[in-house]
Order: sequence, then C-alpha cells, then structure tokens
Amino acid sequence: MTYTIEKVTTLIGARRYGDKETNIGFLLTDSRSLCFPEETLFFALKSERNDGHNYIPELYRRGVKNFVVTEVPANCASDYPDANFLRVVNTLEALQRLAERHRDEFNIPVVGITGSNGKTMVKEWLYQLLSPQMCVTRSPRSYNSQIGVPLSVWLMNEQTEVGVFEAGISQPGEMLALRDIIQPTIAVLTNIGEAHQRNFESKGDKCKEKLVLFHDARTVVYNADDELVERVLAQMESTLPGGEPQERLGWSVRDRHAPMFVKSIEKKESATTVTYIYKGGEENWYSIPFIDDASICNSIICAIVALRIGIAPDELDRRMQGIEQVAMRLEVKEGQHGCTLINDSYNSDINSLDIALDFMNRRPDHKGRRHTLILSDIFQSGEEPTALYQEVSDLARERGVVKFIGIGPEICAQSERIQIAEKDFFGSVEEFIVSDVFRSLRDEVILLKGARRFGFDRLTELLVKKVHETTLEVNLSAVVKNLNHYRSFMKAETKLVCMIKADGYGAGAVEIAKTLQDHRVDYLAVAVADEGVTLRRNGITSNIMIMNPEMTAFKTMFDYDLEPEVYSFRLLEALIKAAEKEGITGYPVHIKLDTGMHRLGFDPRQDMEQLIDRLRHQNAIIPRSVFSHFVGSDNDGFDEFSARQFALFDEGSKQLQAAFEHKILRHIDNSAGIEHFPERQLDMCRLGLGLYGINPRNNEIIHNVSTLKTTILQMRRVPAGDTVGYSRKTVLEHDSVVAAIPIGYADGLDRHLSNRHGYCLVNGQKAEYVGNICMDVAMIDVTGIDCKEGDSVEIFGDHLPVTVLSDIVDTIPYEVLTGISNRVKRVYFQD
Ligand SMILES: *Cc1c(COP(=O)(O)O)cnc(C)c1O
Repeated sequence: MTYTIEKVTTLIGARRYGDKETNIGFLLTDSRSLCFPEETLFFALKSERNDGHNYIPELYRRGVKNFVVTEVPANCASDYPDANFLRVVNTLEALQRLAERHRDEFNIPVVGITGSNGKTMVKEWLYQLLSPQMCVTRSPRSYNSQIGVPLSVWLMNEQTEVGVFEAGISQPGEMLALRDIIQPTIAVLTNIGEAHQRNFESKGDKCKEKLVLFHDARTVVYNADDELVERVLAQMESTLPGGEPQERLGWSVRDRHAPMFVKSIEKKESATTVTYIYKGGEENWYSIPFIDDASICNSIICAIVALRIGIAPDELDRRMQGIEQVAMRLEVKEGQHGCTLINDSYNSDINSLDIALDFMNRRPDHKGRRHTLILSDIFQSGEEPTALYQEVSDLARERGVVKFIGIGPEICAQSERIQIAEKDFFGSVEEFIVSDVFRSLRDEVILLKGARRFGFDRLTELLVKKVHETTLEVNLSAVVKNLNHYRSFMKAETKLVCMIKADGYGAGAVEIAKTLQDHRVDYLAVAVADEGVTLRRNGITSNIMIMNPEMTAFKTMFDYDLEPEVYSFRLLEALIKAAEKEGITGYPVHIKLDTGMHRLGFDPRQDMEQLIDRLRHQNAIIPRSVFSHFVGSDNDGFDEFSARQFALFDEGSKQLQAAFEHKILRHIDNSAGIEHFPERQLDMCRLGLGLYGINPRNNEIIHNVSTLKTTILQMRRVPAGDTVGYSRKTVLEHDSVVAAIPIGYADGLDRHLSNRHGYCLVNGQKAEYVGNICMDVAMIDVTGIDCKEGDSVEIFGDHLPVTVLSDIVDTIPYEVLTGISNRVKRVYFQD
C-alpha cells in the first residue's frame, strides 16, 4: 500500500519544498535501518540527545529523497535537487498523524493491548490463534512506543483482516496518542503491575492512564477480579460516542455472572485445562501446554478476544493446544569454523526477519565476513508466496546478504524468486545437515531464522561451538535500558564514558561495546591497551580511553587510536617522548587528579603548576579531559568527604583549563555519582556498574544484564547421616536428594558459598550448596524440588540477584561479576 508524496503532504498538513513525484511505502526514523531508499520517507525526529536532521545529507547520498523536517536545509533546491522536504511543526506528531490517517482506511477489527506484563505474549498468541483463518498484521517484536506504534500500524495493508498492536507507556499522557493511532475496536488490559511506577503518582494513576486505551473501543477485555481495574472502569463513560453501550468483557474466577466466568483451572504435569462459560452460554474448555500462572492468565485474555472475533470453542481448543512459547530473543553465538551465529527464534514472519537482518547488518564485523541467511518457509497467511519471497529476496539483498539457504517445501518452490547469487534450497533441516553446503559453512556471519516446526534447534546445536554447560547469558537490551536509566539523570549535553574495563565487568567487552557504539556513547574506557586493541580489531570506532596505560604500550596506543590516562610525571615524560619519537602532535590524553582516593593521579594542591608548565612546553600531546574519582559516592556517610573531593577537583581542573584555549572536558561522577550528585556531572560522566544493572547506592537491580546458568549433571539419593564432598563438611540431617552441577571455583563460584552458606535456583526453588564447592563441580541439595538431570540451574541472574551472592560472601557485586572465568561462555541476546 503506497501513498503519493502529495497525499502524504496533505495528510500530515505539511508545507512541501520540492516537486518530484514519488510513492511512499516505507517510513524510517533511524538512519541506520535504511532499506529501500527510493520509497522511504524519513522523519527527522529530535530527541534530547540526537537530531535526525543531522542524518539528511548521508541519507540523501544513499538514495533517500523524501524527508519530514522541522527545518528545511538552507540551500535545499541546489544541494538536494531531487528531494522533497515536508516541513511540519513537530516531526513525531507528523509520524503519528500519518499512521492515524492510515488506520482510518481500515474498517476491520483492531486489537489494542496494554498492561504491565504479557503484552507481547498476548499479541503473539493472538497471532497464533487467529492467523490460521485470517491475515493478521501485528506489531513487530515489542514495538510499542510513541515511535514503535505508528511504525507498526503503518504495516497494515490491503490484505490485513485484523490488526493486533501493543501499546506501552512509561509516562502520563502518552496513551492518548497511541489510542488515536491504534483506534482499537477491541481494547485489552493484561494486568497492572509495578513496572514503570517511577513516573506515576500511584498505581491508580497508572491504571487510569492505561485505560485511556479503552475510551471509544467497542469491546474491552480485562481482569474483573482486579478491584483497582474495576474501580477505575466504573468511573469511565460506558457509552460510546454513537450512544451504543461499550461491551465490557471482564473475566473472573469468582463471579459466575462475569462475561467470561472461569469455572476451573486444572493443572496437570505439563498442560492446563481451563473450563469457562462465555457470555452465559454453554460450559466449554480449552487446554494449553503450559502450567505457569502468567501463561494461564494470558491464555484467558486471548480466549476472550478469539471468541469475540468469532472463533468457535472447539476450534479454539484445538489451536490453544498447539500454542507455542514466544521466544523474543535474538542470540549471538560463536559457531564452528570461524562462524558467528545470530539465532532468531522469534516467530517467523517478514517484519521480524527485517529486524533480524537489520541487527546483523548493523553489528560491525572486523573480519568483513560474508553474511549468510538460513531461512525456513514463512507462515504468513494472506500474502501470495510469489510476492512474499520476492520481498524476502529484496530485503535480504538490501541488507547485505550474499548467501541464501532456504529450507522447506514452499521456499524450494519459490527458489526462482530469490535473486541472490549464491543460493541453495533444501526440503528439510535433515537434508541440509547431510549436504556439502552444510559442511562448507566457514568464516560467515549466519542469521538463522526458522519457523518452529522446522526444528532449527537441531541445526543451531550442530553449528555452535561445543561449550561448557555453564554459560553467562548477557541481555544487551537490558544494557541499553540501564544506559537510558542513567541518561535520564543527566543533562542532554553531558557526555558519557562507559566503563568496559575488566572485560565489561565480566559481561564481555566486545559485544557490550558494539551495543554502546550503536547507542552513540561518547567514550568507552578499558583498563589496558590490549583491551583497546581487541575492541578496535572487532570494529569499534568509538573514542577509547585507556585507564592504566603501560609504558611499553605507547606505540600500540598510537597505532590504534587509544587515548591514555596520564596520572604521574614519570608517565607524562615517557608519553611525550614516545609521541615525539613518532612525530606525533596533539595526541589526546586524559589527566587524572588524586583528590582523596590516593591511588593514582596528580595532586591538585601541589602539582598543577609543574603539570601545566610541562604540558604547555610541548605539542606532542594535548589534554582532552581532566578527571578525578569519588571514593564514596555510593554512601551518604561520605557526602562531606565527597564535597571536599569535588572542591579540590573543581579548583585544580579550572586551573588546568585556564592555561589552555581549547575546551578540556571535566568529569568526576561515576554511576553512583550520576544519581547522587547530578549537579556535579560537569561535562561528562563515567558509567560503570550501573550499566551492568546494579545500582551501587542500594545494591538493587535496575535491569538485570547477566545470568549465570548451568545444568544438573547427575542426581542421587543420599541417606541421612552421610556427608557430601571433600573433607566431609556437610553432614546430611535427613534423607536427601543431591545434584551435581558443572560449575566450581575455577569458574568463579566462590567457595564461601559452600556448606549451605549460599544457594542457587532450580526450577525457581532455592537449592543450597552442600559440601565444599570443588574446582569444576558443585553439589546442591534438591530434596523436595521437582527437577531432573539436564534441568537448568540459575547461579545468579534474572531471579536471583547477584547481590545476594556478594552479600553472602561479604564482598561487592563487582568482584563476583568480574570473577567469572573465561571458560564460561558468554551468550548474548536482545529481547
Ligand atoms: C571503574 C571506574 C569508574 C566506574 O565506577 P562505577 O562505580 O562502576 O560506576 C569510574 N571512573 C573510574 C576512574 C573507574 O576506574
């Protein structure tokens, strides 16, 4: 579905500069995701930290001809002869307006989903339930923001028979815009939880804001057992603008008169049967292959929507039995033979394919390896296979795929559509695995995207490097959320250094750096030159600071553009000499002042004059920044000392600045300081532990990044009175079940956790360490816990905060995180 540029101009009420006629099919807000330049309309959005207008020249060079802007470039007719600029007052509002007008074109059921948890799951399950009989357009992944929603709604086209969209809010006032864009005919509230409470006065306020989505929806679906929701809803208008009453489909396990009365919920070993009476009709039931409460609640909501849309109860049951867990992860794994695997187990459809291809394309790859796509048949009802695979081919080509492997009967039949030079097709994963094509995969970045029924799991299993069963899973999306959390305390113009020393606080510096570079942080900081070199070799082009430069590594630093910290006259002299020898001038360095840590740094009370004098009488190096470090910004008890540190730094750094014409960036705040002393953020802040999800001020988890996991190797019954492990340290008081797990102190598991001092989680339940933790193995007490060999064990992470462990062994989370040894494989994912 395309719009002429003229139509777009009218729809968003813009003033147009330029007169080239074009059709618009794609909307773009992030220049890095450009795919089809000719048909793209770019919205130059302004955020606190960035301005889309800056990317117009680059996009124009790459073939984009249509821009929505607030300021038209000065010489637009001569500099951009083929372009159309649509000038508006607010580009975000224009984007939303366009999506809203696009939505107006459709007179079909549209489901809008909000709530604190489960939005994406409900959306995906509805898709699974409805797509066998109708063409569903839904939000890709969790595109649910002020920008994500309009981009999602824009995806509706002539084939769409029902739309399913998520609406997420984090601040008061946001829902109104989302409602106008989605205009749900069926509005759904999953639940009201504690998330994002920060910006709301109370839970009631948050509930009210979310229920803005319900205004004007013909039908609303919610949990009628939640009193807060009932109360807020009771105050809301119950007739629609036309005078018709709103249909309120609340579900309840208590009230037999509820529109959806859930009469019973029967959990069996691995399935649950829900018996219900819908709108006072006959008793019916359905089963789902899950037993957890969240899945059950979500399934009830989906059932109501599906019944409302007209799915028959027996058909609903049949489809419910087959619903699949939604994996929203995009994983990066090291593969065999120099390959990197990007594994997207998310449902297979063209929009999520696009996101995954974009992800692959954007990740810098030092070795310039080829990009390969392994794709199964796409199940997307509605679209003609010929057109669908033509689109796949165009997308893949645009996103730099040079090798294509198709798996499945449909894709085989459409092989002609795929216009990529190197292409192979197989009927099934089995056929592929025994082929030469499979054996010859080498030095490639491979994106695997397969619909579940093709069993791509087997494929990934064969392709990944065999690893120790203990892995550290690193959530890159959480890193970004933490980054934004701290940015929210900072002024927009304040620069940021992200500390990725000690291999990114244990999470792995390279992948963290790639993510941070993508989010435009100003500086990355590592401890030694070699760490910097590794980053450069992996395609990191950001500014890099070296905190502990070795005298022997100056040449390396110059070669790789790594900027050293300078803390002493000895280092200063050696550095100047080395730079002069190379004929280098103006090499940026960072001056460290010691204001109370008494570790490294110049003394601001004694050294400034000599330091300034030395710096001014040479031109090999140039101070780019000057900084100091708080000893106790995490603790209010040290506030007075911090104030003294700051005063010393303030004076010393101003003295340095006064001696030079150019701007020298001043910085002192670390993670705790950013939050505690926002008034001391100066020109730049240095973010460390907070980036990895731990608030150093209270040890609380912000967004958890790392999860250390292993699996049960063996289980045995041990009678009361027996002992476990070396030196017989744990005596069992009762008959017990003991499990062995492949993680020991050589992996970084602290021995002080031994003998019931600490615990891990097995299927969500606490299992204490029994016996002394060994080098490579530990034993845990799983008596009474429902588990078996092969089950997963969480050492710390999403459900067991790392700070629980650090408290038990009387240390700080920094030490636990950085102590995880190298042999523990890091697995990265985005959600
Ligand atoms: C490690 C480090 C930081 C980061 O500290 P966090 O407490 O992790 O935020 C900041 N500055 C310097 C000089 C550091 O060495």
